[in-house]
Amino acid sequence: MPSPHTPSLRRRIAAPALSLSLLWLAPCAPAAAADGHGATASATATGADAPQAVLGAIADAVDPQALHATLEKLVGFGTRHTLSDTVSPTRGIGAARRWTQTRFEAIARDCGGCLQVVTPAQTVTGKRIPTPAEVMDVVAIQRGSSDPGRVVIITAHIDSRVTDVMDATHDAPGANDDASGVAAVLEAARILSRRQFAATIVYGVLSGEEQGLYGGKVLADYARAQGWRVEADLNNDIVGNSHGQDGVDDNSVVRVFSEGTKALETPAQAARRRYNGGELDSPSRNLGRFMAGLAERTLTNFRVNMVYRTDRYGRGGDQVPFLEAGFPAVRVTEPHEDYRREHQDLRTEDGVPYGDTLDRVDLAYLAQVTRLNAITLAALANAPAPVQELAIGGAVTTDTVLTWKPQPGVAGYRVWWRDTTAPQWEHSRLAGAPAAAQGRAVLKNVDLDDFFFGVSALSADGWESPVTFPGEAGSF
Ligand SMILES: [Zn+2]
Repeated sequence: MPSPHTPSLRRRIAAPALSLSLLWLAPCAPAAAADGHGATASATATGADAPQAVLGAIADAVDPQALHATLEKLVGFGTRHTLSDTVSPTRGIGAARRWTQTRFEAIARDCGGCLQVVTPAQTVTGKRIPTPAEVMDVVAIQRGSSDPGRVVIITAHIDSRVTDVMDATHDAPGANDDASGVAAVLEAARILSRRQFAATIVYGVLSGEEQGLYGGKVLADYARAQGWRVEADLNNDIVGNSHGQDGVDDNSVVRVFSEGTKALETPAQAARRRYNGGELDSPSRNLGRFMAGLAERTLTNFRVNMVYRTDRYGRGGDQVPFLEAGFPAVRVTEPHEDYRREHQDLRTEDGVPYGDTLDRVDLAYLAQVTRLNAITLAALANAPAPVQELAIGGAVTTDTVLTWKPQPGVAGYRVWWRDTTAPQWEHSRLAGAPAAAQGRAVLKNVDLDDFFFGVSALSADGWESPVTFPGEAGSF
């Protein structure tokens, strides 16, 4: 008799589909077919246009000096408080917004008019806006070539503050919070505007964040009014500092926060999800996994720390109004914050400088975060849309069956699965043709009960969408 601790050979042999093809194979990596019908004809891109080569070139194009120029300009407006001067040409949020619009327009001229610049606005009153004030975003739109209604967004907020959130007059340089994010947005626009993408990319510079996340709502409302199918919002807020108040210096990691269950989940959906799982697999969460995989494959000495939480504890950011609108969204933030430089009056106490000044932004670190954003936008906008109407079955059988709605133009699909306690997708197989064309894959001898499953969509030239988790809990 084998000891109780000896794994059963019989069980291992009974599950051949579980040979361990590991995490995040490159989108074009070959793999066996899920149902034994042979690999799909897709995903064989090679040479200069292969996804990894494109992403590498995009990452290489990020220029720390361009980021510095944006930071210097924005800090130079003195304060960018939402309620500050909107008329002055040199000081206040009005001047900062107009300069941002000028930058987008200059980038648009360089790409033959590939960016449309719009300034959606709402007049807002609230706890931190006692009298009606206009909250205006500055937004550039790069239309997709084949599916312009599908939209991926990068955002950051241009407004800044000091200790008193209602103080609209004293200097509030906001170099890290959040000129750093705005610099990433503008640099992504400069680089990606040189290329064409299947889906639309939107670059959003938002106002009103510190007064109550108003600018995020303005853009989310605008997206809904335009009928955009928003696949992702990457909200960058506080992304330029690598020297933590806790004494840790770390320029090799960035946090990506993602909600676990959808903000719009209904009680009935919650009941099904609570029973069968899905609390770890919102589309936002699988967007975070997508970013972690891209960083792993593309960037050097830089990784994503996925945080399974909507934002920092009890705090918020402009990704929240997107989530509340039903759009997948994540927050990107440095790993070790220094609270002596966030939301602080400029001063020195006991020899310690307070305030969010330019001299303490780490340009090399900000460049890495910008690279992660740019390659994520490019990968999302080049790939097919995430899989739709994904359903799963196979209870009380030895096989797992996945079905979905096949999309025109999709060259193939990849089935992913992972242990229920694993943070990242672990195993994958291409869904063999013709099953993939019918929107169906069977994993022989893979037990539905023991894993979480998902499916991604592949383009003919090797781009891969984020993984969709079955049912309402995971749908994009
Ligand atoms: Zn902020």
